[in-house]
Amino acid sequence: MSSRAWIARPFATESPITIAAARPGASVAPILPIMPVSAFFQRRFAPDRTPVGEPKPFGVSLTAPSFGLIQELPGAVGRWNPACVLEIFCSQYSDLIAQLQHVKVITVERIDVRRWRFKNGAWVSQAGIVGGMEHKKDGQFEVFIPRDVDCAEAAQTLYHEVVHVRQGPMGRYFEEFEAYAKTESWAIYLGLPQRGHDLREEKDGREVPSAAKIDEKVRSQYGGPEPSAPGARIVGHTAKEALVLQPGASTPVPRPAVEGDVDMSEKPTTVAPKVLPPSVWVCPKSPQPKKSTP
Ligand SMILES: [Zn+2]
Repeated sequence: MSSRAWIARPFATESPITIAAARPGASVAPILPIMPVSAFFQRRFAPDRTPVGEPKPFGVSLTAPSFGLIQELPGAVGRWNPACVLEIFCSQYSDLIAQLQHVKVITVERIDVRRWRFKNGAWVSQAGIVGGMEHKKDGQFEVFIPRDVDCAEAAQTLYHEVVHVRQGPMGRYFEEFEAYAKTESWAIYLGLPQRGHDLREEKDGREVPSAAKIDEKVRSQYGGPEPSAPGARIVGHTAKEALVLQPGASTPVPRPAVEGDVDMSEKPTTVAPKVLPPSVWVCPKSPQPKKSTP
């Protein structure tokens, strides 16, 4: 039932949003200043390139659901491809592209997951679909991303998963909170729309990530902070217990299950996986300013 490979995240690297800031109720101010919309648009689509995805009319309300309000650029196609992702990242985030060269990116038709949630005194199974995931296999990170999403969504999914790749083990709740908060902050900065959820709010006339909404989403999908110890995670369950793996431990220890516990240790199923060759992650030659990423 449990597989350690799916939970190990040995990278202990920098972390611009600290764990403390990721705690519920803390503010999640955008890390970066808002970039002028026109500047982003000019950078994103060079004159000789065909727009890919659903470029949004930046400046319109970005709260979900925003579909219906979207105007596609003439000639744009719906599915993402590496070229359009490079258009988004290379202008300012070439370090993220450099990181992708060391990650095995696998495109899929779908990622099916099974969650076990402890509700009303019993574990209940729920089937679901997730928009992306990463794990480490044989020492290499693998990132899975659906093929049938537009470029803005694909870029945010890759950004979210690279945040995970750079994280140290903090426990699933804090790992997800940080990944959602950073991705949302970055997407707001670039004027990208939300990807099928509403995790933003208005503050002082600006759109910012909402700590309360992110907390609610993460708790519902991944469970709350592990009560036994920060960094620990549920890797299985028995009828009335959660099996919890402490950081650095190799054997999980049972504790009584509590309402809201989520066990996601069952290995997800990926439909029609295809590995992208690392050679696709090469930015165009023209020198671009570089800024720090997650
Ligand atoms: Zn995540």
